[in-house]
Amino acid sequence: MATFFDTHAHLDYPDYASDFAEVIARAHAAGISKIISIGTSLDSSERAIRLAEKFPAIYAAVGWHPSDAMKAPSDLRPALREMCKHPKVVAIGEIGLDYHRLPSMSGTQGGASVPASRLVSSLAPPIQSADDARYKQKQADIFQQQLEVAAEAGLNCVIHQRDAFDDTLAQLKPFAGKVRGVFHCFGENTGRMKQVLDIGSLVSFTGIVTFKNGQNVRDTVAATPLDKFMLETDCPYLAPVPYRGKRCEPAYVKEISETVAQVKNCSLEELSAATCKTAHEFFPKLAA
Ligand SMILES: [Zn+2]
Repeated sequence: MATFFDTHAHLDYPDYASDFAEVIARAHAAGISKIISIGTSLDSSERAIRLAEKFPAIYAAVGWHPSDAMKAPSDLRPALREMCKHPKVVAIGEIGLDYHRLPSMSGTQGGASVPASRLVSSLAPPIQSADDARYKQKQADIFQQQLEVAAEAGLNCVIHQRDAFDDTLAQLKPFAGKVRGVFHCFGENTGRMKQVLDIGSLVSFTGIVTFKNGQNVRDTVAATPLDKFMLETDCPYLAPVPYRGKRCEPAYVKEISETVAQVKNCSLEELSAATCKTAHEFFPKLAA
């Protein structure tokens, strides 16, 4: 059986509290031999490390997610530097920029509710509230801190970006040669995929490749060289067909790999060899 890695899973989420051992057993039975549990806060990162200590197949990435930027301490670096020393911490992540829900759109982040900028005529200049600016600045600050820790520690980064591609790339670019990023849950077009590869970074694909409306992602998969991407579930989100809408789990990398092999017109064995080799190069602390 071809083996694969789940390079992006949120195993510390409460979704798995009731049947964790079975989730891991099903992953092994499906040929998913290594799983990276991704941190989204310091607490979540600590939980990922505890899971990695308990289960040989689990590794941890430590970091603070941009969507929760306002809750982050002013300096994340000391805590992350300590965590990076752990032998099973293989990356900093997930980190990046996310402009999908700005305070001015939801009225829930950072205080006073303001009119949604999307309601304003598209000819008018975009309204950017002070809250939006503060939120984006805080995201950029913690992204920068975490890139610095990655550079010091010699680790690569798991990058989350949503509606913020250009800014994310611009902030990562000065680290090229020191830190590489994997743009996780990649859903951008081929041109943007090439921009990511141009700075030495990688992409990874989720169950969206199996969705009926995922043709744009399949087109990008088709154009991505076999040695420049990895596979992930982003579980508990984004369960592939035929589990779409249900809780996702690492075992479902199997379904993702089958679709990706079809799109790449290669065998599962070739896909396994390429994606596992890429993961070992990108995450050097993953055991052979
Ligand atoms: Zn994630």
